[in-house]
Amino acid sequence: MLGLIQDRPLLISSLIEYSGLNHGDVEIVSRSVEGPIHRTNYRNVNLRAKKLAQALGKLGVELGDRIGTIAWNGYRHMEIYFGVSGMGAVCHTINPRLFPEQIAYIVNHAEDKYIFVDLTFVPLIEALKDHLKNVKGFIVMTDEAHMPESALDNLLCYETLVEAEDGDYAWPQFDEMTACSLCYTSGTTGNPKGVLYANRSTVLHSFCVCANDGLGVSNRDSILAVVPMFHANAWGLPYAAAMCGAKMVMPGAAMDGPSLYELMEAEGVTLSAGVPTIWMMLLGHVKENNLKFSTMKRTVIGGSAAPRSMIETFVDGHGVEVIHAWGMTETSPLGTTGNLLKKHENLSEKERTDIRVKQGRTVFGVELKITGDDGEELPRDGVAFGDLKVRGPWITSGYFKGEGGQVLDDDGWFTTGDVGTIDPDGYMQITDRSKDVIKSGGEWISSIDVENEALGCPGIVEAAVIAIPHPKWDERPLVIAVKEKDHAVTREDVLHHLENSLAKWQLPDDVVFVDELPHTATGKLLKTKLREDFKDYKLPTA
Ligand code: ADP
Repeated sequence: MLGLIQDRPLLISSLIEYSGLNHGDVEIVSRSVEGPIHRTNYRNVNLRAKKLAQALGKLGVELGDRIGTIAWNGYRHMEIYFGVSGMGAVCHTINPRLFPEQIAYIVNHAEDKYIFVDLTFVPLIEALKDHLKNVKGFIVMTDEAHMPESALDNLLCYETLVEAEDGDYAWPQFDEMTACSLCYTSGTTGNPKGVLYANRSTVLHSFCVCANDGLGVSNRDSILAVVPMFHANAWGLPYAAAMCGAKMVMPGAAMDGPSLYELMEAEGVTLSAGVPTIWMMLLGHVKENNLKFSTMKRTVIGGSAAPRSMIETFVDGHGVEVIHAWGMTETSPLGTTGNLLKKHENLSEKERTDIRVKQGRTVFGVELKITGDDGEELPRDGVAFGDLKVRGPWITSGYFKGEGGQVLDDDGWFTTGDVGTIDPDGYMQITDRSKDVIKSGGEWISSIDVENEALGCPGIVEAAVIAIPHPKWDERPLVIAVKEKDHAVTREDVLHHLENSLAKWQLPDDVVFVDELPHTATGKLLKTKLREDFKDYKLPTA
């Protein structure tokens, strides 16, 4: 027997329609690419998203068409998120930091009909124009006054398109499983693969971002979304903010410490979200200038493991609670969040941080398990570690156009490629990417553990640990580290520091210093490159 409840589809458009109507005055503040700070609100974003949908309709955009964006976080990008998905087309966010060949591959694979580009990226498009034959036009996200001189003959102006419409438009209703957005995984090996989100999955994910034990986003927040909108939909924040009418603060292209700090203070930011590398720069600026955060209460750190020292600086040094979160493009991306439980209230701050360094608990909706080599589930004892698998209504069921084949097992579990533990309270801790673990004499050494410990050594600003072949132990860890400017820290200092926290067999066999570590387009350590660079490296112990 079915329930007698209205079957209204969960649509992206309903989020912006809701906040346009009920939180119309709440601001969306952006550092614009043209320069000045721009202020708009939910009423205008809803109106202009509708105008955009009207304009795209006139350009021949239909339900299911892919529309690309190559843009920073800003209000026009937000209008595109809602306008494109709201009309039933697919908003395909493209990461501008990828190699040009990868961008060309992605645009052609997605068959983008139009692409929205920020001014910054017009040269990128010009360089790729011969490879993007199927794109009908590039819509430059600016006004007539700032339109660039360009040899491209199919450039359109965003403001001209939008302002030609009247906004008298009712968001169309369609099946909630209709695709709304597309995001390609960075693909450190092989070609990038497209994750295709649905209206329904995105709305359900937004409920989770707003839930108290999710990221707790509410109307009382002013959110600084540093995580890019081309990176797993800025962790779903633009949608969740619209769901509750939270103020959005968008940094545009300026993600350096001073610019972020200035925005945080000027806009009363209460919640920020970004990857550890961003916070490292921000905290560096704050420390050098002896600054304090006067409004920020919580910060979400994810994308890679949040180092303990960073968590301590935020929590103990600044009174900012850290929500350590784990997820992937394939998981929309929220999978786990590291909120503390009632029972942790009376623990010491050190014990509470022991919990904060874990990647957190599943939020309702996502199921999580770890399995051993035989595929059997391992105990949730916080000790056993194995392949991390996920299942749920905002987890991918397969990549766009079937790339990568079947990705779920018979019971619908998706293998994440991460290795971790789950403790009796459900806190998951990533011990490694399955391809990064160091297999030493039958034991597994977590490269992430060693990296985090090395980062705690005074004078070390960044560290990567990779496996180097070893005649006796198969593989042994090598630390590749970056020193703080002019710091005299030595190899011996690092090894000595690690002796305090690692077991003898986990201690790295060597430490080398480099000026800079390679990163992926999403700011993670690019270990494939390091493995390549150090492929002929001989350990002193070999
Ligand atoms: P996103 O775009 O959300 O960063 P990606 O798909 O690029 O996701 O990368 C996902 C991978 O990033 C995860 O499988 C995991 O290896 C790593 N990751 C994400 N969050 C964390 C975290 N908090 N701690 C450790 N690793 C993380």
